[in-house]
Amino acid sequence: MAKKKRKQYVKLQCTQCGSVNYFVKKSKGMDSSGGKLSLRKYCPHCRKHTLHKEMKR
Ligand SMILES: [Zn+2]
Repeated sequence: MAKKKRKQYVKLQCTQCGSVNYFVKKSKGMDSSGGKLSLRKYCPHCRKHTLHKEMKR
């Protein structure tokens, strides 16, 4: 039973309305800070760019 390595996909949730708008593959470069990923992305719900934060599965 070999466990496959899971690709690190993370959800990005809008901090304004809480909807999950993006799935991103976490890269090593992004991880360097050690903190949680947060990106400014367009939220179709808020209809503007908002801060999206990583949600751990
Ligand atoms: Zn939103």
